[in-house]
Amino acid sequence: MTTRITPVEGVEIYLKNAEELALMREAGRIVALAHQAMKAALRPGISTAELDKIAEAVIRDHGARPAFLGQEKPNSPRYPATITASVNEELVHGIPRPDRILKEGDIVSLDTGCFYQGFVGDSAWTYVVGDVRPNVQRLLDVTERALYVGIEASVIGNDLRTVARSIQQYIEKQGYGLAREYTGHGVGQAMWEDPQVPNWWPNKPSRNLRFDNVPLMSGMTYAIEPMVMAGRPDVKELDDKWTVVTKDKSLCAHFEHTIAITPDGPQIMTRL
Ligand code: MG
Ligand code: MG
Repeated sequence: MTTRITPVEGVEIYLKNAEELALMREAGRIVALAHQAMKAALRPGISTAELDKIAEAVIRDHGARPAFLGQEKPNSPRYPATITASVNEELVHGIPRPDRILKEGDIVSLDTGCFYQGFVGDSAWTYVVGDVRPNVQRLLDVTERALYVGIEASVIGNDLRTVARSIQQYIEKQGYGLAREYTGHGVGQAMWEDPQVPNWWPNKPSRNLRFDNVPLMSGMTYAIEPMVMAGRPDVKELDDKWTVVTKDKSLCAHFEHTIAITPDGPQIMTRL
């Protein structure tokens, strides 16, 4: 049985036991296999819908099911695909389409998740299509590094604020913008569980966003997912009610792993 705790009023966290972590690890491995297959297929001329089919086949072939398909969000239609594919100035939640053809020099953030025996893995990666300019590669390198900064801070004895601030400080020191409206999240038996895992932390209480500072405990599982832009941090949602873009059309990157807090340190679930 999963242990539930309420470390802060209104926040319910499910601590996973070893058996449950093993299932999450398998869900995460399947997600990593889907990423591996999409990366191998990436080339100029491929559509984001084709990448979606590739990920869906890997997930279903391993006895899992797509976690994003059919997800609901207030005032939006149900999500229609296995992956989100966000190209260039698209930050997150780009819907795959047969007519969205990737070109040489594009970057594309692919995010996917699956349910395996009742547990979820969730991981995103920004990939390059062909060759990209060095300044674009630097944006990707910094965002990926920010993810690992967050993972390294995810140790027992720390709290969520420490994790968030370590990510924020690293990104700001590199001179990039940081998407403030979107956060990582607890993950386990559901795609989104408590707590929220922000990539920044306010100095004063925020009016619009929840910031629940929670001490890190063994068995906590969450997704860390820094979203970083080359330009200003302002974003907007397109008319499809899913795709989020940077307002100034600057390029952006998104890297995400699902991890578990353990006495031996953070364990990455979404890897091969
Ligand atoms: Mg994700
Ligand atoms: Mg996520």
